[in-house]
This record gives sequence, structure tokens and C-alpha cells, in this order.
Amino acid sequence: MSAVTLIDGKAAAARVIAEVTDEVKVFKANGIAPALAVVLVGEDPASQVYVRNKVRRAEECGIRSLEFELPSQCQAGRLLALIDTLNADASVHGILVQLPLPAHIDEHLVLQAIAPVKDVDGFHAANVGGLTQGREVLTPCTPAGCLRLLQDTCGDLSGKHAVVIGRSNIVGKPMAALLLKAHCTVTVVHSRSTHLPELCRLADIVVAAVGRPRLVKGDWLKDGAVVIDVGINRLDEGGRARLVGDVDFDSACTRAAAITPVPGGVGPMTIALLMKNTLAAARLQHSSVDRSQPAMEIPA
Ligand code: NDP
Repeated sequence: MSAVTLIDGKAAAARVIAEVTDEVKVFKANGIAPALAVVLVGEDPASQVYVRNKVRRAEECGIRSLEFELPSQCQAGRLLALIDTLNADASVHGILVQLPLPAHIDEHLVLQAIAPVKDVDGFHAANVGGLTQGREVLTPCTPAGCLRLLQDTCGDLSGKHAVVIGRSNIVGKPMAALLLKAHCTVTVVHSRSTHLPELCRLADIVVAAVGRPRLVKGDWLKDGAVVIDVGINRLDEGGRARLVGDVDFDSACTRAAAITPVPGGVGPMTIALLMKNTLAAARLQHSSVDRSQPAMEIPA
């Protein structure tokens, strides 16, 4: 079979960022300055890096960014009060609370406090529900980025059989909903599923979002499958830190038609789609006729 194509997430993300940068100019020409508020609770170094990257990327696109840092011991009430203030601030279009939160704060309560029209992570129940109904709502960034990579690679996804490995609220479930919306036949597998290799071998598309280094082997794939590896696993190999995905890249390359590398595949798309969602949120907030009842569906 012919050589595997590497799906270049950096190049795809750069295209999304260029689109966003152009759209921001149009917003500004219409007197709207899109703005994203990023809230970090605690001092987790990985979260600090993620927040810094999001803020930097927003600024590169011309999106105004506001950063809020709360100490790890802060009570939920203080965070909820900040979210209320940001919800009420018409100059803020997107609100992102960096996860994970410290264990004493109820994550669900916090995510439900964000106004659905400002929920640029797409985790609010109203947006999750809208997505499962197939509506154009704010959608979690990582699966939205995966979908875009798949559409860039395969074109129309209609009728393709996709196996999604993982059923988290952040990746697996919304990924399955997006693929269904794109008219795929979707199988979702998880830690209690049996016959994983056999199920994967039926798939035209495999999306691995598991958090288990190199779980998916080449002989789990049918010839010509397209593989999206969402996993980010930090390994120490021979004293050297290394990032690997949930797919055994070398053996997968002997079967797949196309595959995302780790790093450089899905990762860059997540932040790019966050920027896209910030603009979608701004569009939502400036298109609603009845301001007391914000429209939930993103206008074209
Ligand atoms: P979670 O831990 O929340 O979910 C993992 C899922 O994998 C669960 O549904 C779990 O099943 C399933 N699972 C675990 N072990 C197995 C197994 N042996 N066989 C089949 N299924 C299994 O992880 P996330 O969804 O948040 O993230 C998944 C991966 O993606 C991680 O490596 C994470 O770092 C990465 N990630 C990357 C992002 C990016 O921007 N590139 C963004 C977000 C995540 P069960 O439900 O039964 O427990």
C-alpha cells in the first residue's frame, strides 16, 4: 500500500488562526472587539502553561484577553462571583475556566455557572444538549479540531464508520456527537468494552482519546484507515522525557492511510478552535434580537 500521510495539525491550526485573524478585523470594523476571559485557580504549572498559550494565541489573533488568577485555596463562592461578573460584562464574549479545578471546588457547578453563550469550552449542559441534537452550538475545542482535521483529510465523512476510543465529556462523547452529525456510523468504546482490536479493524476512522500510551497497535487498524491520535502521554524513555500518543505510531503507519503525529497533530488545533469559538460566541451575543433570551444557535 502507498505511504502514510502525516496530518499536519500545525499547518491546519495556522489556517484556522489566519481565518480567525481576518474575522476579528471584520468584527472590529463593526465596532466589536472580541474578548476572551481565562480564569486559572491555583498554581498547577501545566495549567499555567496552557493558560499562557491561550492568552498569547488570542493576542496574536487580535482577540482581547483578560486573565484572572485565584489562589488554590479560594472558595467556590469567589470563583462563582467572578463568573457572574464576567457573564454580566457585555465586553467579554468568551469565558474559559482552566481545568482541572482544585478538588474542593465542584467542577460541574462552576461549568454550569458560565452563561451558555459565553461557554467557549462547550461544556455547559445546554451546549452539550444542543450538540447531541445536532444544532450549531459552542462545541468542545479538541473534538471540533479533530473533526476539522478529518474533513480536511477525507472530505465528506458521510457513511464512514468511525470508532471513538474513550467516552469522556471533554473528548470522546462530543467527538462521537460531531461524527454522527457529520453522518458517520459511530462506535464508541471504553475501558469496559470487549474486542477492541476487532472493533477498530472495522473502522474507516479511528479516534483515540484514552490516555494510555501506544494502546492502539497497527494490527488493530484496517488498511487505509485514517487515525486521529488525541492522546498526550509524557514518558520517560531512557532518561529522556518524551510525548507519545495513544496510538503506537510506528506500527500504525504500516496500515493507516493518514495519521496525526504526537506532538504536532491534534494539540495545536485545540487552541485554534478556542479562538474560533470565541468569535462564534461574539457572533451569538451580537446577533440576538431579544437580549433577555440569548440565541443558543450560532448564526452562519
Ligand atoms: P479521560 O481519562 O477523561 O478519559 C479516557 C477514556 O478512555 C475513558 O472513557 C476511559 O474509559 C477510556 N479508557 C481508558 N482505558 C481504556 C482502555 N484500556 N481501553 C479502552 N478505553 C479506555 O481522558 P480525556 O478524554 O480527557 O483525554 C484522553 C487523552 O487525550 C489523554 O491522553 C489527554 O491528555 C488527551 N487530551 C489531549 C488534548 C489535546 O489538546 N490534544 C485535549 C484533551 C485531552 P471509562 O470511561 O470506562 O473510564
